[in-house]
Amino acid sequence: MENSKEMRTWLDNFGLDHPLVIAGPCSAETEEQVLKIAHELKDTDVTVYRAGIWKPRTRPGMFEGVGAIGLNWLKKVKEETGLMTTTEVANKDHVKLALEADIDILWIGARTTVSPFIIQEIADALCGTDKIVLVKNPVNPDLALWMGGLERLYTADIKNLGVIHRGFSTYDKSKYRNNPEWQIAVEFQNKFPDIPLICDPSHIAGRRDLIFDLSQRALDLNFDGLMIETHWDPDNAWSDAKQQVTPKRLTEIMKSLKIRKKTTDEAGYQTQLETYREQIDDTDQLLLDALGKRMKIAASIGKIKKDNNVAVLQNKRWSQILNTMKIEGEQRGLSEDFISRVFKSIHQESINHQQKVING
Ligand code: PEP
Ligand code: MN
Repeated sequence: MENSKEMRTWLDNFGLDHPLVIAGPCSAETEEQVLKIAHELKDTDVTVYRAGIWKPRTRPGMFEGVGAIGLNWLKKVKEETGLMTTTEVANKDHVKLALEADIDILWIGARTTVSPFIIQEIADALCGTDKIVLVKNPVNPDLALWMGGLERLYTADIKNLGVIHRGFSTYDKSKYRNNPEWQIAVEFQNKFPDIPLICDPSHIAGRRDLIFDLSQRALDLNFDGLMIETHWDPDNAWSDAKQQVTPKRLTEIMKSLKIRKKTTDEAGYQTQLETYREQIDDTDQLLLDALGKRMKIAASIGKIKKDNNVAVLQNKRWSQILNTMKIEGEQRGLSEDFISRVFKSIHQESINHQQKVING
């Protein structure tokens, strides 16, 4: 996928002067509901109308979608409002029906991206299509699996591609339904800077009051667009009721979002930026020096542990260090989670240095 530039042609061709907005209900419920919401979104910044027809539900017994009949409703949306349409496909039969109904964009859901077999089945069914295909991240935080899904489609000669970041499942429940793990999306962006990256704050949040902040965060990270679940009566939606917003609220959200420029030629900006970047580089050098010094000390400790036949890992000492660093980190505005990750990694490296001395 060296030439990822061609994958964003479809988005460039939309000619938007703002991020792409995909909106519409989690599920198509009735023809009336689908059309009512579409008409309310018609003269807004929304370009693409979404509605799930086949719903992958974690537990059986929940609303599993209206099925193929909903495709006709999406056709009507296109005819009556001019909005483009998108729905989720999860197997080759869905693909066939969606292509027949001339759905403009197909998305692959998080529960599908986890399965290379199903992705391959979908890629084969789509082979050579010029439809736009958006791949949601897999439910588990695995960048390779996400990239793999995209590569299978690309290899099947599907060139109008994009990805949707919808957060990742965790066993421990946090305030989010799906943990954003922004670093994974950022890493994706670093690997494939031209592939359109869209954020789905609705499925990250799981609740509507978090959608604005998540959307702003995504735009600050240079995401190309947003997919936001929108329903005329969110509380009575047949699926994902807590996270949907009304078309009115969606318009407010879009008005309040700040779109920051990726770069600017304004005088002063470049010189200021250079100055800060030099400071960052200097600080990084100091960090490296400090880390190098710490590992040398660790090696010396390794030597005396060896001479005295003492185990490398001293659990009590390690938890003391971690606790102290968390407290001191907080005083410097560093989150507990960050400190814990950084020091676990430093500690592991120290152990490696000690072990090298002890074993060799
Ligand atoms: C959806 O978009 O309604 C959906 C089911 O999303 P996900 O695959 O991200 O859970
Ligand atoms: Mn949903």
